[in-house]
Amino acid sequence: MPDQEKKILVIGAGAAGLIAAWKAASLGAAVLLLERNSKPAIKILISGGGKCNVTHDGPMDEMGKAFLKREERFLKHAFHSFTNHDIRSMLSESGVPTFVRPDGRVFPVSLKAGDVVGALVDSLRKNGGEIRLNTRVTGILVSGGRAGGVTVEGGEIASGHIILTTGGASYRKTGTTGDGISWGAGLSLTIVPVRPALAPIRVDPPLPADWRGIAIRGGRLSLYSGHRRVDSCPGDILFTHEGISGPAALGLSRSAAVALEKGEVALRLDFFPGVEFTDLDAELNRLIAAGRGKQIGSIVCGMLPDRIVPYLLGKIQVPLITRGYVLTREARRRIVGLLKSWEIGGVGGIDIDRGEVTAGGISLDEIVPQTMESRNVRGLYAAGEVLDIAGPIGGYNLQAAFSTGYVAGTSAARNWLESYGSNPPVRNQR
Ligand SMILES: Cc1cc2nc3c(=O)[nH]c(=O)nc-3n(C[C@H](O)[C@H](O)[C@H](O)COP(=O)(O)OP(=O)(O)OC[C@H]3O[C@@H](n4cnc5c(N)ncnc54)[C@H](O)[C@@H]3O)c2cc1C
Repeated sequence: MPDQEKKILVIGAGAAGLIAAWKAASLGAAVLLLERNSKPAIKILISGGGKCNVTHDGPMDEMGKAFLKREERFLKHAFHSFTNHDIRSMLSESGVPTFVRPDGRVFPVSLKAGDVVGALVDSLRKNGGEIRLNTRVTGILVSGGRAGGVTVEGGEIASGHIILTTGGASYRKTGTTGDGISWGAGLSLTIVPVRPALAPIRVDPPLPADWRGIAIRGGRLSLYSGHRRVDSCPGDILFTHEGISGPAALGLSRSAAVALEKGEVALRLDFFPGVEFTDLDAELNRLIAAGRGKQIGSIVCGMLPDRIVPYLLGKIQVPLITRGYVLTREARRRIVGLLKSWEIGGVGGIDIDRGEVTAGGISLDEIVPQTMESRNVRGLYAAGEVLDIAGPIGGYNLQAAFSTGYVAGTSAARNWLESYGSNPPVRNQR
């Protein structure tokens, strides 16, 4: 039996897989990390626009609150087992110090995602873990409710300890084609249907093409089904060639995808979420008076990006050239109504492949949060985005992958060491 047959197998060298493999190796287990691509962690390399927003600062309980309730509960143990401080220390000890931006996001000082990947790979190798690139796993072998190994193109690798870290089902070109989720379904694990999250939203009917690149700062985007507000998210939005992106749109995309399955949904934008209708009305009135006969178009251009104003005022039948002093009270209130709740349009669709994360995946009910082991298949662990976890932007998703990977690596190593006692079949090549 070749040595590799007794190693812990980790499938997928992304954020969760690299940490799981490093942790298991550091505890003395023999580890083989299998990656389909010719280089590890392509998603980390493109994260944060190539700068890698590696985690978020603050207490871990606060971090948990950024996730849906069920995700928060599930992540609690992992978040306290391997914290944002832990990943920052680990990187710093590998020569990659990090810093905190005023908004709490943590980046490497070098602003190079490649340095983060380099540090994770070095840590793994220093502890004797092995990475095998260009190796696509094609399935998981299970017999009698226990993990037995994996199939790869051209063969099988036996192991009773398998950590599944194949990621989600978006940005498929980076290698994440949802393989782990399909295997989970094949093993009769409960799978929560995959949906886009942190993805741009197509708007129907389309917005004017020349709006592309315009940003609205500090608004609040809401999602409506009929008159019912389904969800809302504060933050900037950015107009794209197909619709909207930016933090508020990305943040709303998961609930937009769910709502869209049930029927039509509309997007509304409050340009001034911190200002009440009556105060905004009073402010507009003051601007009109101070403008001494200025056209209403140029007054509103002082409040919004110029290029969108003709379209918006056209929507509420207020001619741009109307002099402020002839504007009726009713027309002024229509403008304020638009500023507080502009109906951008319907949600035309959300492309799962363009989501920074995938919502859905292996159900959290299938996994023991203290070990990341499957409740139904002994010796099978799962961590990272292959699970039904999708946090907001800001470093939360990488931290979730690191923390769950750490727990999976720890418990797989303990079980591996227990199975072999003081006589392990293979040792790390330190
Ligand atoms: C454009 C973009 C920007 C992002 N920016 C940030 C950010 O700044 N901060 C943040 O916190 N999050 C960010 N994210 C999200 C974050 O990158 C992911 O949530 C995180 O990488 C998930 O980690 P993971 O280990 O679970 O999966 P991944 O990192 O996706 O790793 C999965 C690995 O498994 C491999 N694999 C898949 N199938 C197989 C197979 N059959 N055999 C062998 N290997 C396989 C893949 O090739 C891949 O290397 C971003 C995502 C994207 C797409």
